[in-house]
Amino acid sequence: MEKTKVLIIGSGPAGYTAAIYAARANLEPILVEGGFTPENQSVVPGGQLMITTDVENYPGFPDGVMGPELMDMFKRQAERFGTKIMHGFVTKVDMSKRPFTVFVEDEPKFEADALIVATGAVAKLLEIPGERELMGYGVSACATCDGAFFKDQEVVIVGGGDTAMEEAQFLTRFASKVTVVHRRDKFRASKVMADRTLNNPKIEVIWNTEVIEALGSKPDTIGAEGGLTGVTLKDVKTGETRTLKCDGFFVAIGHKPNTEIFDGQLTLEDTGYLAVEKGSSRTSVEGVFACGDVQDSVYRQAVTAAGSGCMAAIDCERWLEGQASH
Ligand code: NAP
Repeated sequence: MEKTKVLIIGSGPAGYTAAIYAARANLEPILVEGGFTPENQSVVPGGQLMITTDVENYPGFPDGVMGPELMDMFKRQAERFGTKIMHGFVTKVDMSKRPFTVFVEDEPKFEADALIVATGAVAKLLEIPGERELMGYGVSACATCDGAFFKDQEVVIVGGGDTAMEEAQFLTRFASKVTVVHRRDKFRASKVMADRTLNNPKIEVIWNTEVIEALGSKPDTIGAEGGLTGVTLKDVKTGETRTLKCDGFFVAIGHKPNTEIFDGQLTLEDTGYLAVEKGSSRTSVEGVFACGDVQDSVYRQAVTAAGSGCMAAIDCERWLEGQASH
């Protein structure tokens, strides 16, 4: 097993930012990249920005930047200061004693004095035909990230919770029309959020209906013609299907933080996200710090994830210093 002072799990904005700060503090961190889900090994590491095209709200890029390009820059910056980046999935962590044992693909690989957890969250998807293929080409799981690309266009959003309500409202700033498709005849969202949706003249609601396919084809090259053309709807009561033309399709059925490997070891919030001490990145286990979307059910932005990665590295550095002086 390789020994390390700091091991970072995850390669999104939080993980890489933690790596940049830890490496510049001479902690010689190791970062295990992971990817989206252990079930889908074909997906590249780099977090949710890898499935985003243009990023226009990351400060410092006045002309925007492509998600994958931004993550490549994060990675190079982390490597520049000596972060060792390892490809693979952390499948298990033993936090019962220090140093912590970290298993990569079920093999015990590292002994780490401190851990920074930056495993992120994944937007839940419907898993319908066309959805993954057209992600970034008309299909999106983040209205805050992609809404502005649909100026004066028609968009469909699926979901009946607070996220769908909030995102539908947000989308009306850009889109000419927003159609909310919900599988039941009542929203799950809080009354105030639901009422806002129902009272917005730019929003139409289609009840008792599922989206069963995203239509269109992925363009051969970025910028070429193509992408989403519409969605297929199915009335759950009658079974009838029909096509609804649209330029954008947003999936807003919730997020799932990637916490499985910490089950029973780290305390979770009621929402399922990792619990951290208020105003810090400290988890319920001493020496384990968390940053990014895995501990943030509220903001979930690249810039807030990066900020919290910086916090985790600083908390970790101070904790290690304290340990050394004991
Ligand atoms: P959520 O409350 O779990 O709602 C998910 C919605 O997606 C539900 O309406 C659900 O339908 C629908 N859904 C789930 N799977 C589906 C599928 N396969 N096909 C079609 N529809 C599907 O998730 P959320 O809206 O992301 O909210 C998560 C938490 O964050 C909630 O506690 C929420 O209150 C909170 N939140 C708060 C705010 C705010 O206050 N500003 C904003 C965002 C989120 P059913 O209703 O039929 O189950």
